[in-house]
Amino acid sequence: EAKERGEGGYQRYRPGSEARGAERHRITAALTAALERQEFLLHYQPVVTLPEGRLTGVEALVRWVHPKRGLLGPAEFIPGAELTGMIVPLGDWVVHEACRQAAAWIQELGDRAPGTMSVNVSARQLQNPGFAEQVARALRESGLDAGRLTIEITESTALGGGATHDVLRALRAMGVRLALDDFGTGASTLSLLANCPVDQIKLDRSFTPGPGPAAIAGAVLQLARAMGLEAVAEGVETPEQAEQLGDLGYERAQGFHFARPMTAELVTVAITEPADLPVPL
Ligand code: C2E
Ligand code: MG
Ligand code: MG
Ligand code: MG
Repeated sequence: EAKERGEGGYQRYRPGSEARGAERHRITAALTAALERQEFLLHYQPVVTLPEGRLTGVEALVRWVHPKRGLLGPAEFIPGAELTGMIVPLGDWVVHEACRQAAAWIQELGDRAPGTMSVNVSARQLQNPGFAEQVARALRESGLDAGRLTIEITESTALGGGATHDVLRALRAMGVRLALDDFGTGASTLSLLANCPVDQIKLDRSFTPGPGPAAIAGAVLQLARAMGLEAVAEGVETPEQAEQLGDLGYERAQGFHFARPMTAELVTVAITEPADLPVPL
């Protein structure tokens, strides 16, 4: 079905066309029903230290357990949620659920709980002036410390107009950390770093050595250090890549080599009974 709509989701519908209006209506209805039926689920991918491979945090990645189509990844429904504005209530659910789970792990596991919870947000969410209040409410209701939550934005999101900058400032004032996701794939990287107060940059997986040249990964790490930012390498798939990143000086990494995104229950097992998992953390 996604294929019929073409690459990137729904873009073959021209603005103002009736087909586009009907499509929006259909997507809105489907996502509203899915939220009501609680068909969304978060998977969590570990972020680990280099070179040890010790769990330091997790990134929440949304899934839709579709009654007919099975487990759907974000590429299948986030574009439609953005197009219709349904990303606002869906994103609100994601933030609440991620904070709830992070607080539950701290209750259950204490010092062994993942130290940080990272949540992805779209441009559309940050253009909503109520977003910072949504996050504040999620923190209040869960009891999670703001410093344990990282909000991941992309470079293009950070450049977004509207209320975006006020919202980012408000989040930071609350003590929430900000990360620039997919770093290196967007535009205006340097002016953005100069103007946007982030705490972490995540090197896009296309620049992780293996696909990418080690020189770029190394230069991004130096840039991060010079600006006092944490650097995380994404998409580490092989032991060679992990070793090379460690040699370059990366202290944080994420990727299938360490762990795939998994249910909260499996993260708990990985922490409490690592011998039960093929890849111990
Ligand atoms: P992202 O934030 O850059 O997340 C990393 C994506 O790379 C995830 O895909 C993850 O499963 C995948 N990945 C992790 N390690 C590896 C690896 O070693 N190799 C490869 N090839 N891929 C790896 P996923 O879960 O399909 O998410 C895709 C994107 O959807 C995310 O990219 C993020 O931009 C967006 N997304 C996910 N959850 C949410 C959400 O709750 N809200 C919003 N607004 N966007 C979300
Ligand atoms: Mg991310
Ligand atoms: Mg990323
Ligand atoms: Mg990415």
